[in-house]
Amino acid sequence: MKSESSIIQERLAAVRENMPEHVTLIAVSKTKPNAAIEAAASMGQVEFGENRVQELAEKALTLQHLNVRWHHIGHLQTNKVKQVVPHADLIHAVDSEKLLLEINKRSASIDKVSDVLLQIHIASETNKFGWSFSEFDAFLQHQSWQKLENVRIRGLMGMATFTENHQQVRNEFQSLKKAFDASSSIHQDWDTLSMGMSGDWEIAVDEGSTMVRIGSSIFGSR
Ligand SMILES: *Cc1c(COP(=O)(O)O)cnc(C)c1O
Repeated sequence: MKSESSIIQERLAAVRENMPEHVTLIAVSKTKPNAAIEAAASMGQVEFGENRVQELAEKALTLQHLNVRWHHIGHLQTNKVKQVVPHADLIHAVDSEKLLLEINKRSASIDKVSDVLLQIHIASETNKFGWSFSEFDAFLQHQSWQKLENVRIRGLMGMATFTENHQQVRNEFQSLKKAFDASSSIHQDWDTLSMGMSGDWEIAVDEGSTMVRIGSSIFGSR
């Protein structure tokens, strides 16, 4: 019988095989044990994604011996920012100015500049988080973000509708890519478009994603 680790390694290899070189693969290890992360890391996987603050912090501390980087990918509550800032290399789902200000403040207190992405609501489901395009435009115009010295906004993140309708998913990713390109002059570090998961990453990459977040296709179902 094949070990769990070798199954993970085979799945990771299969995902990588089809991934263009310019796209960063985040292995989403949420709910999975350290052994699963070690199996992927032993194949040179560096970027890992978690959506719970406590779990991310614990894994970051217990896996310090690995050469890995941590992404906080899910909805983040303001009162949890303090716990995640020391460990996260990129925070993907900043969905309010209040949250951005808190990340700035907590980063300043530990002399860190945190890389973040703004989450835009592109799906038709209302239960997904994120700014609307008009809120995002207003926020950029207002320019208050330029005064924040301890956050660096690297780009945008979005989640498409969970649907079999590929054209709808494609349209949603296209709208996000358009907003990403339209804002490309805001500063030189605007370089990351995080879109695509196990079920839709091929479409996302087709539509200009630079970073995909893949969990179940590597680590199995949760
Ligand atoms: C869980 C999660 C993923 C990965 O989902 P899979 O379908 O397992 O690939 C990607 N992005 C976010 C924000 C998630 O919470």
